[in-house]
Amino acid sequence: MEYRRLGKSGLPVSVLSLGSWLTFGKQIDNSVADELMTLAYDEGINFFDNAEIYARGRSETVMGEILKRKGWPRDSYIISSKVFFGHLGKEAKPTQRGLHRKHVMEACEQALKRLQLDYLDLYFCHRPDKETPIEETVWTMHNLIQQGKILYWGTSEWSAQEIMEAHAAAERYALIGPTMEQPQYNMFERQKVEVDYKGIYKTYGLGTTIWSPLASGVLSGKYNSGFQHDTRLSIPGMEWLKDAALVEMKLEKSRRLAVLANELGMSQAVMAIAWCLKNQNVSTVILGASRVGQLKENFSALTEKEKLTDDVMEKIETILDNRPKQPDY
Ligand code: NDP
Repeated sequence: MEYRRLGKSGLPVSVLSLGSWLTFGKQIDNSVADELMTLAYDEGINFFDNAEIYARGRSETVMGEILKRKGWPRDSYIISSKVFFGHLGKEAKPTQRGLHRKHVMEACEQALKRLQLDYLDLYFCHRPDKETPIEETVWTMHNLIQQGKILYWGTSEWSAQEIMEAHAAAERYALIGPTMEQPQYNMFERQKVEVDYKGIYKTYGLGTTIWSPLASGVLSGKYNSGFQHDTRLSIPGMEWLKDAALVEMKLEKSRRLAVLANELGMSQAVMAIAWCLKNQNVSTVILGASRVGQLKENFSALTEKEKLTDDVMEKIETILDNRPKQPDY
């Protein structure tokens, strides 16, 4: 396994990590979740990603039980949670969601209970909260760090301006600002990571823990010749994701990527993950997997990324035809 520092922090995070969205406590049996975490840990993955909203809290409960059963030393792994949506989802009352002090404090306590942990390593604001003054959220995160309940805090899907506002508030009151952002990043979704955050990598040493490297499985190529059952996109209630993911323009590019991956002698999933790893502003690529075989396959992105030479990256660029425009200034 390889490790990168999480942005300006000294925290070494494995470049591949494992997330639990839609899988733990929902799509897969707890025994499969156990196998996935065990395989990941044994391979040197040290970061496991979670959130209060995942499977309405069950994802954290399942992960907590696995951690307890395994008895791995607490100082050998990194656990995250995220606050914003509330663990009750749409049924959350106004006090049970958002980034105001009340919900952030209570959500942290609840996540710790479900995970059976004394502290979270990383705590993300899952989305920006337009209703709560940024100072209130920054103070609360700072206080949680001082109380030893979290070690680092960050954001997810915040704009560059929102992240900068958090830093400005932190500087104003000499508080600890955000260390990392969790954006979507994959061959189809590039703007934030490749353009918007560019200044913040330099000025504040922003780290990124990127999500959906396979665009929910589309970049594995498994939908290249049509819809597949028994996948994420066939989970009842996920029709919105199916509509967003299976767009002909994406599938057309995916089919051409499949040909290139085949020429390189690697699976399309591995090529897509390796492509994310090539970006040095990515601290860690969070993998998702519903089967142990997928995770095993995806690990080989670590070695296969050497095959993504400048020449190959240009071929990928030609197929994608979506290089984000850099600002002129
Ligand atoms: P991916 O885009 O990599 O999708 C993972 C899914 O793709 C798997 O669950 C599986 O789904 C399928 N898959 C994985 N590997 C293969 C393979 N080799 N061949 C075929 N299919 C494969 O990542 P996720 O969308 O799961 O995101 C990763 C993590 O990021 C999440 O678990 C979560 O922790 C985090 N996240 C954060 C968000 C945020 O807002 N901060 C939002 C979303 C995710 P299946 O077999 O069911 O088709």
